[in-house]
Amino acid sequence: MRKKQILVPFFTAALLLFSACEEKLVDHVSLIPQAVSVDIQNGSLPLNSLKSIQVPDDWKATATHFAEKLSKTAHLTLSVGTNNAPIAIVKNTNLDKEAYKLGITTSGVTIEANSIQGLNHALSTLHQLILTATNEKLPVLTINDKPRFGYRGLMLDCSRHFWTIDNLKETIDQMAFFKLNTLHMHLTDNSAWRLAMDKYPQLTEKGTYYYDYPEMSGKYYSKPELKELVQYAQERGVEIVPEVDLPGHSTALLAALPQLSCNGGTFEAYPEERPFSKRKRGAENMICVGNPESLKFVEDVVNELVEIFPSQYIHLGGDEVPTNIWEKCPKCQALYKREKMTHPGELQDYFTRKVSEIVRAKGKTMLGWDEINDRNAATPEDILTVWRDEGTPNQLKALERNIPVIMCPQHGCYFDWGYAGNSTRKVYEWDPVPADLGADKLPLIKGGQAALWTERVTTQERVEWMLYPRICALAEVFWSPKEDRNWDNFYQRITQYYPIMEKLGINYYEDDALNEKEFVPSEEKPALIRHAFIETNIPGSPLYHAEYAFDGKTNTFFWGGVSVGKEHYFSVILGEPTKVNEINVITGDSKDYITKADLLISTDGNTFEKVGQFNDLGEASAKLDGKTIKAVKIQVTGQHTCWPIIKEIILK
Ligand SMILES: [Zn+2]
Repeated sequence: MRKKQILVPFFTAALLLFSACEEKLVDHVSLIPQAVSVDIQNGSLPLNSLKSIQVPDDWKATATHFAEKLSKTAHLTLSVGTNNAPIAIVKNTNLDKEAYKLGITTSGVTIEANSIQGLNHALSTLHQLILTATNEKLPVLTINDKPRFGYRGLMLDCSRHFWTIDNLKETIDQMAFFKLNTLHMHLTDNSAWRLAMDKYPQLTEKGTYYYDYPEMSGKYYSKPELKELVQYAQERGVEIVPEVDLPGHSTALLAALPQLSCNGGTFEAYPEERPFSKRKRGAENMICVGNPESLKFVEDVVNELVEIFPSQYIHLGGDEVPTNIWEKCPKCQALYKREKMTHPGELQDYFTRKVSEIVRAKGKTMLGWDEINDRNAATPEDILTVWRDEGTPNQLKALERNIPVIMCPQHGCYFDWGYAGNSTRKVYEWDPVPADLGADKLPLIKGGQAALWTERVTTQERVEWMLYPRICALAEVFWSPKEDRNWDNFYQRITQYYPIMEKLGINYYEDDALNEKEFVPSEEKPALIRHAFIETNIPGSPLYHAEYAFDGKTNTFFWGGVSVGKEHYFSVILGEPTKVNEINVITGDSKDYITKADLLISTDGNTFEKVGQFNDLGEASAKLDGKTIKAVKIQVTGQHTCWPIIKEIILK
């Protein structure tokens, strides 16, 4: 008994002593994008102590959304608005617009921010800390964080295929979680005019009508829907930048307003699904710049955009504009002579200058694709979205003339390209600032964005599959200090985030070549994964050897040099008969994949039988249950518009 009496107080004292100097819970935290400064101290805060959140009244909506997300993903129930809550949000007007401070002590969490954006970033960080918590506890820490670039976006093509308001809300939620702050909606193109306008109701009526695809017709955004979406995004720290693509990419517009074309007549919007041969006047997709009504129309469009979108930015396109129709149009030619032009492209330049004036008259800034600066029509009052090739030449051309840029070059930022073309690692190692750029030009680089064109992307699942995980890499490029970026470290974190993405409902791509650098084909043919030889009548693109399709790596690929049709095949003849349980064929995950083809096998190398068929995602598979085969063949069964990529033929 006596012994026990002594022991008990000793034990209690030891326990107290232990909790007072509890060591660091962890030595690092896993955030995407990585925060600027994280100082982890001794001690921890149990998750179950997070029961309420106190927030200034005008930020209440944002805190409520956070509480809802938390209840779905972390099974924590927070009440909002009470005083003396364990999560306290306070305004700090000394912080930069998007900056935030997050402090965790053994008794609670304090968040300081100066704007809804900063608050959202802080809450995303807290959300990530909770989802990656160790033993249901948060470490005591102090985070000071702010973005490297003010513009961190995603351009989503809403014309080629349609995304519902609910889809877009999902996309916005996902963007906000990774601290992306701008959704650029490409609202119009040849395929569809998705923007409902009071003054021209025929635009959405005829601009989304397809006689041959009734189920795809009539999909567009009403003004109230867009206003609601803008509000939804604002509360989550995301700004929406609208794009109406002019003067090219306008077939859907001309279907409704053929009087704005050079030649008049009838135009038809076409879904991507309609074969090229059935698309009417596809090459006449530009409006007439010699017709003054065209500029009046732009003014009407801008008026309605300003009413819906509070963003400072309005994107008016300007990409890929052929001049052949203008060169034969009397109205365009009269303008050409009147303005003493010497190059047909100056007709576009005239249009660029005029529409920029229209946008500026509304107190807004015009964004345009980098073509608008080909002959210096853009000015420092505009902003270029730089997209062509690897971006740098057009970026430098703009910076030389002090024109601000948003970087989204095909190499690095085009996520309609498959993971073979823009791998997650390639994206991570890309940077929007060229080496040796003078410090004076740095402020002109506003940031950048991923671009997802949706010719071949038809579902929300596929949108997410094309974006994740590589948009997380891009989010870190745009947010975190360049000197802190480290691929190996990011690689560790991103694989940790796969289960988190599952919790968030993100359909990410689980890349078996995630750690590989960009695939660059070489002169030398790769070794095949097993003794075999390849037979094909598809001519290859230089260096993209047929052998890449059977080298055991899914990030290397054969790239055909023609649009394939019924006559084309690609076979692997095995060196010796081989027992196979399963065949999987992965063709390009970019735009260049095979969708119309049969998968055949041969047991003797001469006669083939069909065992599978390619799906809309360019994949084919077959279960063979240990059958001994001599050859595998891809037989194309229909005409494609793309040059095919064959990533890998996998025999298991
Ligand atoms: Zn014309």
